[in-house]
Amino acid sequence: MGVAVAEVVLDAVGKVYADGTRAVDDLNLRIADGEFLVLVGPSGCGKTTALWMVAGLEDISEGEVRIGDRVVNDLPARDRDIAMVFQSYALYPHLDVFDNIAFGLRLRRLPSPEIEHRVAAAAGTLGLREHLRRRPRALSGGQRQRVAMGRAIVRRPSAFLMDEPLSNLDAKLRVRMRAEIARNSRRFGVTTLYVTHDQTEAMTLGDRVAVLKRGVLQQVAPPQELYDRPANMFVAGFIGSPPMNLVHGRFTERGTDLVLELGEQTLPILPPITAARIGPYLDRPVAVGIRPEDLADASLGRGRQVAVVRGTVDLTEVLGSDLIVHLTVPARSVVTDDVLELARDAGVDPLATGDDRTGLVARFSPRSRVGVGETVDVAVDTGRLHVFDLDTGLSIW
Ligand code: ATP
Repeated sequence: MGVAVAEVVLDAVGKVYADGTRAVDDLNLRIADGEFLVLVGPSGCGKTTALWMVAGLEDISEGEVRIGDRVVNDLPARDRDIAMVFQSYALYPHLDVFDNIAFGLRLRRLPSPEIEHRVAAAAGTLGLREHLRRRPRALSGGQRQRVAMGRAIVRRPSAFLMDEPLSNLDAKLRVRMRAEIARNSRRFGVTTLYVTHDQTEAMTLGDRVAVLKRGVLQQVAPPQELYDRPANMFVAGFIGSPPMNLVHGRFTERGTDLVLELGEQTLPILPPITAARIGPYLDRPVAVGIRPEDLADASLGRGRQVAVVRGTVDLTEVLGSDLIVHLTVPARSVVTDDVLELARDAGVDPLATGDDRTGLVARFSPRSRVGVGETVDVAVDTGRLHVFDLDTGLSIW
């Protein structure tokens, strides 16, 4: 459609509300031309505030927002050349699809043939051509979502801003609409800033994902990198489901071998994790992160298996594709405020098994036949362990 594209830059942006609440702190983000960037974080982390500052719906306390080559701090929302898609699509119930999409163009007094051309092109791309004469009431949730996108796209904005546009939909429709947003936004190629609290939405939609905690940016990276190399324990716990297990451990050398002490158990460690890589953290307590998907039922055998942890099965959850196994092992959980907060959000209790015994969550193959109360040998993919500084929470590599 030949829409204008532009870079959006947040340069040391901060927000302090009138009552003194600091919602956003020194936020630096550069959303490239045509990039889809997702801002994600738990409730209250400041993501909506950040988006509203870009939109012009909230004053910017500190720093600068640039859209294209313009500083927009003092520009009213309507002059910022952006389009917003909200949670509630805010369609006009008395107008049909054509008129809903055309609404903003009529306000701007574009000539009728131009309006018809733009609406037809958007409706074609969005698969709405047959529904142009229907009112919103006669559309499915997904179709309404597309009308909202159509209305935004015909204005040919420099950037799209989306604030949890899928949160009102049921789970199934949300998955379908997520795919549609991904497809359409790539087709349109418009710079997009998308806000959500849902890590799956963030991971599946974003070219890059920015993780925010209490107003402070924790990491911004492509989804796979966030998963493979979380910068700190917060990101490690936030990205991934079930969340990463975090336990107290200590790497130490036995002769020329590297081992990991987890409570009473000692695990042999092979490259790529080496004593040199552990560096100054050798022989010191660290937080060891193990993703549930890097734990397997040892009795089923597994290529990369180099270490085994013995545990007792507390609970199994059949997902069909996987078997989620909750285990107790004699090692201590890492329980920081972040871990507690994230665990609460995920509905798990990291303290459930007491101080020196830990609940580990594993994602086993559905072929596993483990039962509650049984002792089970769990193969740990030690090549995929994560290690964090216990005081700072930062990844040590
Ligand atoms: P959610 O996902 O729950 O919407 P969020 O990440 O979008 O959360 P914000 O709505 O941006 O978070 O809020 C960030 C912080 O700023 C919160 O602590 C919130 O209570 C606070 N806040 C928001 N609006 C105001 C306001 N008008 N005055 C004072 N504090 C506010």
